Amino acid sequence: MEVATLHNMPHNTGWIEVVCGCMYSGKTEELIRRLRRAQIAKQRVMIFKPRIDNRYSADQIVSHSEQALPSTVVDKPVEILSLAKDAQVVGVDEAQFFTHDIVQVCEELASQGKRVIVAGLDQDYRGKPFEPVPQLLALAEYITKTLAICMVCGNPADRTQRITDQQERVVVGARGVYEARCRKCFVPPTAD
Ligand code: ADP
Ligand code: MG
Ligand code: ZN
Repeated sequence: MEVATLHNMPHNTGWIEVVCGCMYSGKTEELIRRLRRAQIAKQRVMIFKPRIDNRYSADQIVSHSEQALPSTVVDKPVEILSLAKDAQVVGVDEAQFFTHDIVQVCEELASQGKRVIVAGLDQDYRGKPFEPVPQLLALAEYITKTLAICMVCGNPADRTQRITDQQERVVVGARGVYEARCRKCFVPPTAD
């Protein structure tokens, strides 16, 4: 259940929400939607993303549907702790590109009483769990898995098919490199 629809919103406490799914599933759109509502309600919102994600813009999170919100690029998760000191709501996009200590940082922010909303890929291009997102899922109070539409058959899609033959785990730059696929149409890459 999405937290904003709950009748009993948590109060006097922090918590972690994770929005996960494959590429093009609407993670960033959903993150932007939640953060915008908080901003409209005059809550102090800060948004972070890892430096590795330089698609489209250095100082915004941007969805594939071109919605955007200003954000701060950080090299290490620990930087978020001091930068977000005065924030009530902390958004993090592309969590899979952070080192494992993003988990401890999110825990610390939540225990300081902040609402922490983290978006990221839950599987890599091989269909394997993409750390540290599985660890964040285990610790979060609220979890949303967004689905895309399979580019082959139109079923709900939860996997990211790399349609080039690059072997690195991280190949940033979406256009022409990845497409959303369902379980049936996803073809795991063969390791040469
Ligand atoms: P994510 O952050 O999960 O990669 P975004 O929020 O950036 O996703 O983008 C979601 C948008 O991507 C959709 O609203 C739609 O406009 C676009 N899109 C492109 N390909 C697909 C697809 N196969 N299924 C669903 N949406 C798609
Ligand atoms: Mg995204
Ligand atoms: Zn399919």
